[in-house]
Amino acid sequence: LHPKPLLMIPGPTPVPAEVLQALSTPMMNHRGPEYQALQRECIAGLKQLFQTEGDVLIFPAAGTGGLEAAVTNTLSPGDAALHVTVGVFGERFGDIARAFGCEVTTLAFPYGQAADPDAVARALGERDYKAVLVTHNETSTGVTNDLETIARVVQERGLLLLVDGISSMLATDLQTDHWGCDVVVGGSQKAWMLPPGLTFVSVGDRAWEAHGRARCPRFYFDFAKMRKSMERDQTPYTPALPLLFGLRVALRLLLEEGLTASFARHQRVARATRAGVQALGLELFAAESHRSPSLTSVRPPEGITPRQLRAAMRERGVVIAGGQGKMEDQLFRIGHLGYVSEIDILATLAALELTLNALDRPVPLGTGVAAAQAMFAADSE
Ligand SMILES: *Cc1c(COP(=O)(O)O)cnc(C)c1O
Repeated sequence: LHPKPLLMIPGPTPVPAEVLQALSTPMMNHRGPEYQALQRECIAGLKQLFQTEGDVLIFPAAGTGGLEAAVTNTLSPGDAALHVTVGVFGERFGDIARAFGCEVTTLAFPYGQAADPDAVARALGERDYKAVLVTHNETSTGVTNDLETIARVVQERGLLLLVDGISSMLATDLQTDHWGCDVVVGGSQKAWMLPPGLTFVSVGDRAWEAHGRARCPRFYFDFAKMRKSMERDQTPYTPALPLLFGLRVALRLLLEEGLTASFARHQRVARATRAGVQALGLELFAAESHRSPSLTSVRPPEGITPRQLRAAMRERGVVIAGGQGKMEDQLFRIGHLGYVSEIDILATLAALELTLNALDRPVPLGTGVAAAQAMFAADSE
């Protein structure tokens, strides 16, 4: 028998049993009244969790499709965009805008650091930009940017703000309307407790205005076509029915929990993971002030590659992620977003202790687990 798997990567994330069951609901007519009720419920739930009165559109696509939609629906070739990046996913957002002919200026911060809002403000003073592209939570490094402050800086200049919220949403606060985020992109396989395959895109009033002028080529991802169909609770093209069946159930679970409780739950597992890892003498990678509630990035012990560590963990059933891009050989990452429990964290730390001992990097068994347990015990007092 293979070891019982425990999926601890920052997406795809585990899916609750009731959502898995909903995924196998028999197909329905996507132009019929039952479908309309399904879509209505999903959109209403998404708007609540996006904290927006604006539109939220659902496209069957990876999150990257949502990022492409954000760019092509609001910008034109030649438009100047300031691209703020702190890692691999941030870089991708800029690459998309470049691919569609935007004049992209990149403001990059070192991996492991967060974007400095003052530096963003200075950069915005140097040129007439149309838009700012920013990643809320950088999944490759485990850093959460101070989006609220960055959004304020962008707002002060009346520029359009496009946000990759794919790995931050539901794990940390993202006040779409209140902070003035014109487009926010989410992805089903992160904290939404769903399989991959859907991207959610919020579109505010200013983004709709920009849409009217935006000349980037687009077809499938056209916001206006989607909005027109949504007036009849439909989609222009065949919706991903199984994922919507799942989304309806996941949204009910998430709304029942509530956003505040969801943020607190993510903070709790993140704090315990960090305490456990540090108690084992391992070094956290992300800057202390901006550590992510969605995942924890860790430097492996001297002389051990992330690949070795992950392979040994996998033999015990615990699947963690490696580094990405230039950090491939320097980091491992423990995902704790979505349907993750305190006990999953303890199991992961226990497996990590056994693995380090097996790899001749001895740690006293139970040290990391005890540190995490202490956190959980203190939290529940
Ligand atoms: C996962 C992720 C993406 C990409 O999502 P795909 O579904 O693989 O396209 C983009 N940005 C961030 C921050 C992510 O965590």
